[in-house]
Amino acid sequence: MRSKKMCAIGLLCLGAVCGFSAAAQAQSEAARERADALVKQMTLDEKLQMLVSKYPMSSAPGGSAGYIAGVERLHIPDLNLVDSSTGSGSSTLDSVVYPATLGVAASWNEKLAEEYGVAVARDLRAQGFGMGLGGGTNLAREPRGGRLFEYLGEDPLLAGKLIAARTRGTQSQHVIATIKHFAGNEQETNRIGGNSQIDERTLRELYLLPFEIAVEESNPGSVMCSYNRLNGDYACENNHLLNEILKGEWKFAGQVQSDWGATHSTAKAANAGLDEEEVAGVFTNFFTNLPMREALTTKQISEERLDDMVRRKLVAEIESGFFDDPPQAGGKLDYARDAEFAERAEEQSIVLLKNEGALLPLVSSKTKSIAVIGGHADEAVMTGGGSGDVRHPHTGTLSGCGGMVFAEHAGCGWWRNPWLKVEQPITRSIAALAPQAQLQYVGNSDDVESYRAYSKDEISRAVDAARKSDVAIVVVAQPSGEDFGDQPSLSLANPSNQNELVEAVAAANKHTIVVVENGNPILMPWKDKVAAIVEAWYPGESGGKAIANVLFGKVNPSGKLPLSFPAKDSDSPTWNNGGVIDQNPVYSEKLLTGYRWYDSKQIKPLFEFGYGLSYTHFAYSNLKTSASEDHTLTVSFTVKNDGSVAGAEIAQVYLALADKDEPPQRLGGWSRVELKAGESREVTVKIPARMQSVWDVLGNKWRFVGAARVMVGASSRDLRLHAQM
Ligand code: BGC
Repeated sequence: MRSKKMCAIGLLCLGAVCGFSAAAQAQSEAARERADALVKQMTLDEKLQMLVSKYPMSSAPGGSAGYIAGVERLHIPDLNLVDSSTGSGSSTLDSVVYPATLGVAASWNEKLAEEYGVAVARDLRAQGFGMGLGGGTNLAREPRGGRLFEYLGEDPLLAGKLIAARTRGTQSQHVIATIKHFAGNEQETNRIGGNSQIDERTLRELYLLPFEIAVEESNPGSVMCSYNRLNGDYACENNHLLNEILKGEWKFAGQVQSDWGATHSTAKAANAGLDEEEVAGVFTNFFTNLPMREALTTKQISEERLDDMVRRKLVAEIESGFFDDPPQAGGKLDYARDAEFAERAEEQSIVLLKNEGALLPLVSSKTKSIAVIGGHADEAVMTGGGSGDVRHPHTGTLSGCGGMVFAEHAGCGWWRNPWLKVEQPITRSIAALAPQAQLQYVGNSDDVESYRAYSKDEISRAVDAARKSDVAIVVVAQPSGEDFGDQPSLSLANPSNQNELVEAVAAANKHTIVVVENGNPILMPWKDKVAAIVEAWYPGESGGKAIANVLFGKVNPSGKLPLSFPAKDSDSPTWNNGGVIDQNPVYSEKLLTGYRWYDSKQIKPLFEFGYGLSYTHFAYSNLKTSASEDHTLTVSFTVKNDGSVAGAEIAQVYLALADKDEPPQRLGGWSRVELKAGESREVTVKIPARMQSVWDVLGNKWRFVGAARVMVGASSRDLRLHAQM
């Protein structure tokens, strides 16, 4: 799916992207030739069957999201698709739940994102799935957005680099990776068909950039167009988006598949660039035999276009390795290996937000008594709801599952269940690390109603336990998920009185630590009253262990926020309508999403983009910059771990562009550096021309403007080194 031309155009390249090897190029061409040869041998019926997925046939592995029959005589394998945002989304097979990808974004670690892609794809292969629908990369424009846990934060470069890495990991296992939801699908309000109105410059510089990076750097087999309309047309029949930009400018040679039920026409969609309808005969019926034959007979769709649709699917299958090495259903997952990875991924996802008086890490020999408080300390929250959920956690859901609104599928009503709860409690992991401490647990018996508010009695028991303990650990959680709508507020809502619980405990014990499990930023009215705050996101199946490891210093936290936490709802960029989320959102803040908004409006967030603490400290020095002829900016500096324990720092480079319409700064690059106590290292970050460019609407191209200033530091607001250019 790579084009010859792409790398010749300097401004379209992102550093390493342009380094396609001659071998990769040759492989790409060979894949196209093979696909062409196959298409030539196919009958009309065989071609048509490749344009739609159906719900599974008996030969398919359990619980897939769709099935595309192959063509036996041409050795085209059957293809089973499945959701894979946070692990395999099979609705019938046992699977492992990994931490939410928003957490992976908090690791800022491309290697980890690639390993995540590998881990999930291995599970998919073992179960017999050849395509993973798990590459969500919409931006966190709306901090209350229902699906943010499935995405990668608010910055397009961070999201793009991480989705590219994940995609490379997935396809290295011969599983076709889908990246989604293309494009302008940043909210759940009016989720099917809402018209996102985004001006071209904003679209290119923010919302399309992660996809562009992924197409260039990771060669995904498939791009899923989204439910919404974009500037009038449905995304899945949007000529500008699919034909002009994705397939034209970016030279994407893979397939475009619709979101489930997002196809709205036959000829219009096919001619605008949609290649495959999901799921035909269930949600919609536009690309099936009859309507397609009619469109072909009446020449509304040309034979060439039909062949192109089929060829694209075959190119995706061949290039990813799926075609020659299709998975077999019925394999076994390596649960031990997966659990170990889920734990490591969560450990790197956790962000330490506050640590007054260095209360953390807890020293197990000195901590004689611990109060662990909150329903979800005892019944771990794993992930969000909807298609990003994992229906059958390996560790097994608790009986009753809790929070079920309806249970039309297996896995305890996975679609609406905001969090499948498993017997992987944080309490047990804490007890294992502090065996001599007296541990008291106070929760709310929420097996039946997971939203039930804490009773007066439970709060007073929590206060009592906190008063009698050396430290109090309160676990709070916020549910979210696809089709739950967006949240009305970032305030902790379910159970409704979690803030009251935290305040009461904090008043009883000055060593109160709050652990947050969530998929969105939350408001923290108690921030100044508690000693420590640990942001764990939805932590996946090994979350309890990872959280305990951070609390007790077995792991030094290194995550940094991939999105801003506002101090109050009304500070956020999308609160312009008294908090009512538009049915047809106008992206009127334009380039000012996330930190770009808070910086430009000079609003102090609760915690800024890029923020996160460590148990050690890092010093920055010796900034140097140089630019090469192709405008690549090389930024180097020294980072020293001047604390007393080993740790990892995510050193960030921001640029103030020489353009009056740009926000005050944008992320230009970063480096994750692991340093022993006392160790220092020179770090080099290379920033390609495009990250120093703006989208020129009239010229329809990136225009290099260059950086006026370069800033380096530990967060978007903790900038330690500055260079005037
Ligand atoms: C979601 C997609 C998902 C698909 C298949 C849709 O509702 O928006 O992200 O891949 O369902 O389950």
